Amino acid sequence: MEQRQLAPLDARLPEWNRSSLVERVCPFCGNAGTPFCRRPDLLDVQRCTGCGVFFIAPAPSPEQLDAFYAQYNERHRRLNSLSREVTMHLLAREPQADIRMMEIASCFASTQGLRALDVGFGLGANFVLLRKLGFAVEGIELDSEAINYVQQHLGIASVRQATIESVEGGEQYDVIIMHDLVEHPLQPMSLLRHAAALLKPGGVLSLWTPNATFVDHEQEPVAFRVDLEHMQYLTLPSCTWIAQRIGLEVVHLESVGFPNLKGMGQQPGSSSPLKRVVKSLPGVLPVLTRRRLQAEYDAQQSMRQGSYHLFCLMRK
Ligand SMILES: [Zn+2]
Repeated sequence: MEQRQLAPLDARLPEWNRSSLVERVCPFCGNAGTPFCRRPDLLDVQRCTGCGVFFIAPAPSPEQLDAFYAQYNERHRRLNSLSREVTMHLLAREPQADIRMMEIASCFASTQGLRALDVGFGLGANFVLLRKLGFAVEGIELDSEAINYVQQHLGIASVRQATIESVEGGEQYDVIIMHDLVEHPLQPMSLLRHAAALLKPGGVLSLWTPNATFVDHEQEPVAFRVDLEHMQYLTLPSCTWIAQRIGLEVVHLESVGFPNLKGMGQQPGSSSPLKRVVKSLPGVLPVLTRRRLQAEYDAQQSMRQGSYHLFCLMRK
C-alpha cells in the first residue's frame, strides 16, 4: 500500500541508509503495526493496535543510530563554549515557572532532601529547578561534554557517564526524570523497567515526550516531521498501558507545549485569569518582584498551550 508522505518541516533531515533498515515490532508490546504514514526522512510510522503507540518500522540499525548521534553531538553540542548568559539564564530559572516541576513537587508532602535522578540531563536545566525545590540531585548522561558542563558551570557534582541499565539496583530514588528520552532508543521498555525498579515505593517517574495522541486529526502531524531521530511516539492511552506493565500508576497525564523550533513557539497573546491577577496586584510589591511573577506566570501559561508534548507522571 502506498504510504501517505509527509512534507519536511525540520531543516535537519537525516539520510538513513535504506538498504540496512531492520524490521521491527512495537517496542512496547511486541505487536506488529499497521502503516500510518511516511515521514519526510522516508521512514514509515506504524500504529500499534496492541498498546496504542506509534513506532518507526523498519528502523535504522543500532549502528546507524550510533553514527547519527555521534555526528549530531559533534555538530550541535558545544556545551562548554556556551555563553555565560546561557548559564546565567539557566541558573536564574525558577521551578514555579515550570509546570513539570510543580506537578512533580505536588506528589510529595515535602521535597526537602528527596533524591532525584535525571536520565539524559543535557544542559542540566532540571537540576537547577529540582535543587531549588530542595531535592538532592543526581544525573546520568552519555555525552561527556554535558557532564563537564553541568559540573563546571552549574555546580552539579553527582553526575556520571552511564545508562540507566547500569545503575546499581535497589529502590533508591524518589523521583526519576526522563524528559526527551523515551522517544530515542530502539528498546525504550528496558529503560522504563529499570526506572521503575529504581524508584522507592511512592516514588515518581516523570516522562516528557512527543505526543502522538491527536495525529488522526492533523493533516500533517508535526510530531512526525521534526526531530527525525525519534523512533517511537507515545499517546495518552498508551501511558496507562505502559504504567501497568512496569508496576506503576499514572497520577498525572496531559498534552502540553510546543516543539523547540524557531518560529514555532509563538503563541497568540493571551489574557489568562492568572495574568489579570498579576496585573492587578497592589503597588506594595516591589516592581522587580512583580515583573518576575509576571514572567513566571507568562512562562507557565505559554507552556500550558499546545499539544506537542505528552507529560506523564507515574507513581510506584
Ligand atoms: Zn504496542
